Amino acid sequence: MTAATKSWTLSVEQQELLIKSCFEAKEFSYTPYSKFPVGAALLTADGRVIKGACIDNVTYAGSICAERTALVKAASEGIRSFIGLAVTTNVAAPISPCGMCRQFIREFCSDEMPILLVPVDYYDTEKWNLKKVSIQVTNLGELLPFSFGPEDLELSRKSS
Ligand SMILES: [Zn+2]
Repeated sequence: MTAATKSWTLSVEQQELLIKSCFEAKEFSYTPYSKFPVGAALLTADGRVIKGACIDNVTYAGSICAERTALVKAASEGIRSFIGLAVTTNVAAPISPCGMCRQFIREFCSDEMPILLVPVDYYDTEKWNLKKVSIQVTNLGELLPFSFGPEDLELSRKSS
């Protein structure tokens, strides 16, 4: 399938896998300072799931978000092709990635790749029972319009 014809729609099974995985990822959040656990899960082009959790740091500035944790885990093992991302928090509303994570996602993911924002009460968590809570499906093109990305460095420039 060429890039031009690629469909960015996830199957119901792929969505459920990603959603369950981001909740599992959130369990390993380390948030003594922010008190804001976040879990993220990336689906790779070859069907693997890479999880990431929010990891606080006593310096605060050294903290890393769940989305970047997942991307760094994947990229540092040579995995650079993704077809979906899911993010959840402990908030009963869809929470979207911070600005820094949006730019980081831009490095490795298509503008059209689905990003699932999942409210905390999506599951009755003890039993992984689905509640009737809707997720928000978006993509990077919506979250980071008119973005600057790796291909922009390939544009011809005047020498300084
Ligand atoms: Zn972030």
